[in-house]
Amino acid sequence: MSERTFSIIKPDAVRKGYTGAILAEIEKGGFQICAIKKLSISKKQAEGFYAVHSARPFFSSLTDFMSSGPIVMMVLEKGNAIADLRKLMGATNPANAEEGTIRKQFAGSIEENAIHGSDAPETAAFEIGYWFAGYELV
Ligand code: ATP
Ligand code: MG
Repeated sequence: MSERTFSIIKPDAVRKGYTGAILAEIEKGGFQICAIKKLSISKKQAEGFYAVHSARPFFSSLTDFMSSGPIVMMVLEKGNAIADLRKLMGATNPANAEEGTIRKQFAGSIEENAIHGSDAPETAAFEIGYWFAGYELV
């Protein structure tokens, strides 16, 4: 059964010119792009999006980073999309990411790690609704 997930190409990867290469990996991975947009977000918006991490020591640094430049956000669809995107992304810390994963290829550090992907059906639903209106999803 087909499933939707939410993804962001983070500011580090957009700055370095990796947007196209990361989109190519996503399409090669069999994902349909249901919606896509490029925008800059405020620190407040980043805090709302990452609210689950508000107690973590890296929260302020993470939300500064996510609001530091343009990002590309997407809704992606395929069977098992949530788990399959996490696999394609690789480990949070690129030093631990498997060969061939997006983070292994394009991430610079545990914080500036190139891509976000939802981690569960509930978070995917929240994250899609946080950034996209229903009429924007193809
Ligand atoms: P994401 O939610 O962005 O897909 P993830 O699920 O692999 O990544 P989380 O544990 O949810 O990782 O952390 C969210 C983000 O916070 C990470 O992607 C990374 O940018 C940042 N982060 C996580 N751990 C650290 C850390 N120890 N130091 C600095 N930043 C971190
Ligand atoms: Mg996460």
